[in-house]
Amino acid sequence: MIVALAKGLALTFKTLFRPRITLQYPEEKKVMYERWRGRPYLTKGEDGQELCIACGICARGCPAQCIKITGGKREDNSRYPVKFELDIGRCIFCSYCTQSCPKDAIKMSHAYELATEDKNKMLLSKEVLLERPE
Ligand code: SF4
Ligand code: SF4
Repeated sequence: MIVALAKGLALTFKTLFRPRITLQYPEEKKVMYERWRGRPYLTKGEDGQELCIACGICARGCPAQCIKITGGKREDNSRYPVKFELDIGRCIFCSYCTQSCPKDAIKMSHAYELATEDKNKMLLSKEVLLERPE
């Protein structure tokens, strides 16, 4: 009994002086690894316009089929997505979309706080996707 108590106390004291590995979430946030795959976002060019040309490669290759795109043409004949929707509730964060995009127009962010009680909020519009979350 005494031996077991001494062993327990020894373990407690040993652990007491080890560096802390837990975080006081949500006040403290974890810094994610560079290659962490969080919520995808759409990138913009220097002119502030989306780089996406609505080619649809990402949507066709998405294993979860969570991307829907409606393409259109600007006055200068360049193509752009009139509508770009991503259902983050279905996304499996595989990054296939970013790897297949010929324009680097879609990338994975480090955002991981995606929980919501409203399912409709999981359908991300182009406007939401164009804001990089961090
Ligand atoms: S990360 Fe994967 S599942 Fe998510 S949108 Fe891209 S291709 Fe689809
Ligand atoms: S994000 Fe890239 S792959 Fe997807 S439609 Fe736009 S340009 Fe094509």
